[in-house]
Amino acid sequence: MTKKSKKPCESCSGQNMKSHPTTWPVDLGEKKLTIGRVWVRECLDCHAIEPTKAGNEKIARGMMAFMELMLR
Ligand SMILES: [Zn+2]
Repeated sequence: MTKKSKKPCESCSGQNMKSHPTTWPVDLGEKKLTIGRVWVRECLDCHAIEPTKAGNEKIARGMMAFMELMLR
């Protein structure tokens, strides 16, 4: 049986999701930020990519650190 925690793809509802780290670009208006080694889930059927929970937290931390640098 598949685990309940395994969400299907949001784009095509496919179950073939593969987790891997990647660089995640963040668009902050005039600034572009690239966060490295963000864990994402990629759909092997339609190649949609979404960050995992840990990936989202890493993106949030990266943006916070970036904002602090900008405010200095
Ligand atoms: Zn898909």
